[in-house]
Amino acid sequence: MEPKSSPDIAPNLAPDIAPDRYTRLKAIKDFGYDITWTDLANRTITIAGVGGLGMITADILARCGVGQLNLFDKDTVDTVNLNRIGFLESDIGKDKVSVIARNINQINPDVKTRPVHGDIMNFGVEDLFDEAVANSDAVLMGVDNYPARMFVNQKCINHKKPLFNAGVSRSALSGFVQSIFPGKTACLQCVARVKGTNENLERGASCVASLPTTFAIIAGIQTQETLKFLLGLGTVLDYITYNALTGDFHQFQTSRDPHCSACSTCDSDDDTDC
Ligand SMILES: [Zn+2]
Repeated sequence: MEPKSSPDIAPNLAPDIAPDRYTRLKAIKDFGYDITWTDLANRTITIAGVGGLGMITADILARCGVGQLNLFDKDTVDTVNLNRIGFLESDIGKDKVSVIARNINQINPDVKTRPVHGDIMNFGVEDLFDEAVANSDAVLMGVDNYPARMFVNQKCINHKKPLFNAGVSRSALSGFVQSIFPGKTACLQCVARVKGTNENLERGASCVASLPTTFAIIAGIQTQETLKFLLGLGTVLDYITYNALTGDFHQFQTSRDPHCSACSTCDSDDDTDC
């Protein structure tokens, strides 16, 4: 086969390999990082809530070629959601998971979606969510109220599944990301008592303000840490906060609460569910 001379083809690309949608992702390997993007096709991710964070994480993971995305959300698209990335005016009134699944199919038809419209804490949907978590490689937090967050935390502990927890404050001017490995690192309940780590997240209340920029920053970090875990790239961070007013990022090293009501009996070395 004759070498191609198109200026659009990277000079280090083998001449007999046609560029595809993953070519620029695979190019990271050329910089010395031993990662295999095609492994993502065998991975399943569950996203609990496809609002301001979940719609972005789903979009990015689809573009990166994750094999299956399980999407859970109880809401429909409202006019006030249009300032966020991903929804169109014509989506108003439709359930969010169907809209996101439609978007993913248009972004990357290689990705299988399993949209479930309903409250993960309600009878019937809970079983579907439990099954999805049990069969996932990781779970991403996208719900915006404290009881649901604790519910997701407990499901991930029960099945020993990594949880990439994240949230944006009610003012939309700060946020955080926490990587949770049940039985190894602090869970959501463990850090709930740590002053300063999530003091801006008001318990039991849905978000009020919304800045698409803050959501994009937090969702970007949340997805970045998920991809690093899936690909074995670098060190997955423990806990990071972002303050939009100062531009500051702060990292924290959390520690497990030995008396945590959610995870204290969970042992990562034991193969059985907690
Ligand atoms: Zn805990």
